[in-house]
Amino acid sequence: MDIKDTLRPETLSYIPYSPGLSIDEIRERYGLATVIKLASNENPLGASPLVTRELSRKAASVFRYPQSGSPKLVEAIARFHNVPAACVVPGNGSDEIIDLLLRVKARPGIDNVVAFEPSFSIYRLQSKLCGVAMRTAPLASDFSFPFDALLARCDENTALVFVTNPDNPSGYAVTADQIVSLAKALPARALLVVDEAYVEFAAPEDKYSVMGRLSQLPNVMVLRTFSKLYGLAGARLGFGVMPEWLADILMRVRLPFSVNLLAEAAGLAALADTAFRQASLEAVSTGRAFLARELSRLGCRPRPSQANFLLFTPPAPARKVFEELLARGIIIRPLGSYGLPDDLRVSVGNARENQAFIKALEDVLALNA
Ligand SMILES: *Cc1c(COP(=O)(O)O)cnc(C)c1O
Repeated sequence: MDIKDTLRPETLSYIPYSPGLSIDEIRERYGLATVIKLASNENPLGASPLVTRELSRKAASVFRYPQSGSPKLVEAIARFHNVPAACVVPGNGSDEIIDLLLRVKARPGIDNVVAFEPSFSIYRLQSKLCGVAMRTAPLASDFSFPFDALLARCDENTALVFVTNPDNPSGYAVTADQIVSLAKALPARALLVVDEAYVEFAAPEDKYSVMGRLSQLPNVMVLRTFSKLYGLAGARLGFGVMPEWLADILMRVRLPFSVNLLAEAAGLAALADTAFRQASLEAVSTGRAFLARELSRLGCRPRPSQANFLLFTPPAPARKVFEELLARGIIIRPLGSYGLPDDLRVSVGNARENQAFIKALEDVLALNA
């Protein structure tokens, strides 16, 4: 017996999450002065000035542990969304909440979790690590949600059902009414996890979000993040709003300080900055319309999107288009890892970034015509 052969079998064929390429990586690889990253759906306006000011103010306090459970932040989130504080669980990104849900709710080797294919890879990766089987139903070819097929994959051992709304990487969204109908049709043990990472970009938000209806839905919870609209991807902050019995157990089993002191301060300041949030929404809405129009003009096929990114099919091999944009200092997202080798995803940037992307794409497509 070799000690190296004693790892849990779930870990052996584990392929890690594949993140968007970093600006430094591409700057070095191609010897470029400037690189534009439109690959990870980050905020086109950067971070809120209230957040950066608050972070400098808090910097000298980093030698202190944060308050366990981030009660001030939980209170502020609860007030902002008009939900009970006892239902809010903050996390090191919503990724942490996904991991916690699997570990407290899904029994390894017995339970299954259900999602569409393709969907956000963290659902699959953390399920695998937990020894929980993942079942998938394919999205329709127009990226709409065939809920009948999803329900057909559920049974009495389904612990969690993940739905991303609006969806990543397509930007497709269903109404809150449709989510409610799905919840009512699920088997008794199944909890519906609605990942609303992008829902603020859907208009009007309350037509799409189930946040305002959770008190009537005993088997539904919502995931939100500060990584997108709030411009805090690097601070790692997200949260879940869930039934109190579930929030209570998550708060007890989570690592005590997973939301660090600076992330909590950043989250509080971000919630307070209404002007920055409004400007971000406006930048995304204008930029998304510009990109959709220009992509169509260039013979690409953008899909309708309610998020801060667009999925499109270029009229030339997608991988080649992606590589040639990289060489010009523009990072977007190839979708091979989502099983969509002919499509690309571009995040909505600021006006200068969007124009630079379109200009570079126009050059690339002219060379590959
Ligand atoms: C970006 C994203 C998140 C947010 O993850 P964080 O861990 O909060 O940064 C969650 N779900 C989906 C589908 C996403 O695309």
